[in-house]
Amino acid sequence: MRPVVVLGATGSIGRQTLDVARRLGFPVAAIAARRGSDELAALAAGHPDAAVVVAAPTGDERERFAARFGDRVAFGPERLAAAAAQTGAIVVNGIVGAAGLPASVAALEAGNRLALANKESLVAGGPVVTAALERGGGELIPVDSEHSALAQCLAGEDRAAVRRMVLTASGGPFFGRSAAELAEVTVADALAHPTWDMGPRITIDSATLMNKAFEVIEAHHLFGIGYDRIDVVVHRQSIVHSVVEFADGSLKAQLGEPDMRVPIQYALTYPDRMPGPLPPFDLTAADLTFAPPDRTAFPCLDLGYAAGRKGGSAPAVLNAADEIAVQAFLDGRIGFSSIPVVVERALDAVEWRPLATVADVVAADREARAAATNALGMSC
Ligand code: MG
Repeated sequence: MRPVVVLGATGSIGRQTLDVARRLGFPVAAIAARRGSDELAALAAGHPDAAVVVAAPTGDERERFAARFGDRVAFGPERLAAAAAQTGAIVVNGIVGAAGLPASVAALEAGNRLALANKESLVAGGPVVTAALERGGGELIPVDSEHSALAQCLAGEDRAAVRRMVLTASGGPFFGRSAAELAEVTVADALAHPTWDMGPRITIDSATLMNKAFEVIEAHHLFGIGYDRIDVVVHRQSIVHSVVEFADGSLKAQLGEPDMRVPIQYALTYPDRMPGPLPPFDLTAADLTFAPPDRTAFPCLDLGYAAGRKGGSAPAVLNAADEIAVQAFLDGRIGFSSIPVVVERALDAVEWRPLATVADVVAADREARAAATNALGMSC
């Protein structure tokens, strides 16, 4: 079995990856996290054969980890990229934020399999990541439940026969509410997600449908499909993870309990399947419904389509501006309905450019943060 490198090891994806690897017998070659936390130290102690990388340690953390783990531990973001480039590895990138992009590029340039859970890699850096994939000849296997579903539906199929792809969305906590009702929602309301337990930013992004907009952009890059052929439907039960419709009118869907260990496992064992952690699924207990998204109440969805169609720096600006706007909402500085307003102002304010390198992405990200921060002042 190929060695697994787990980036973002202390996060939700990282921990579940370590569970899956242990159950299936994959050797863990390296674990990495941003900070030298007690959680990372415990994981390092539990994986005595794994290299340990702390990407952004404090002075204290550096001392403690060096004293406890000696030569096994390395520090700094460049060592994160080195771990991702380890020969023959399956690199699970569960890093949260823009710090995940250079590691994705390093993994693909080294010809490795990248099991991708870091959103920013494809949302902000899509052209950079797809170029690295072509240069290095690696494999890009999505871990997100929707994209894993699409990849599974496409297995054995001719891409030219795809008519459209349909991403399912849980709809978040505010499905069915009008734009006027949304203006009144609180941070606590927005953090109550119906099916998935996730970090605060992605939970708010699910409530605004911005997360689904990001997933549309990711699908475009992962599967080389035009935006006109990617649709979104609201599916409250999160059992159908996504759907591919083919030219002959056949639809294939991938279904299952919402449990991230399943797509993580598929990314490790692809193209094979191994026994998983879930009991047999009871189809007779599943009541599956589908509805169109309300594009007026949730304007982030169409902001995402528009930024995706523009390409270049626009999706990077969308992502960074959204991060600023979501943080401002969480801090109580703006209302829920101001999130798309701030993002749209930043998209208008930042000059469009093509993206070729990680540095181009970083520059677009920085400009977008400044523009969004400026827009915050205007909206409150
Ligand atoms: Mg998803």
